Amino acid sequence: MVTTESNPSSSSPADSASALSPSSADDWPTCACGTNRTMREATPEREYTFMGTLYALWGGTPVPTRVTFRCVRCDRVFDSESDSATLRNFTL
Ligand SMILES: [Zn+2]
Repeated sequence: MVTTESNPSSSSPADSASALSPSSADDWPTCACGTNRTMREATPEREYTFMGTLYALWGGTPVPTRVTFRCVRCDRVFDSESDSATLRNFTL
């Protein structure tokens, strides 16, 4: 009695952890210390228009006109973004 037990040892299709966004991070400028906007050392600073500031005072959530990224280690602005799609991600 031969039991050809083809043990299916959990051969699931290796779901590679593709948690990273497909956007090309290589295109982003980096600080002198190597920090880019996706890193924890980058502090986004939002800039609003005068009307946007008023809107915020009235309790609204204006979309910033520009976001700059400052390195907390070097205290230096190394990147900025004015793309509307990106700015919407930084809307408070
Ligand atoms: Zn830096």
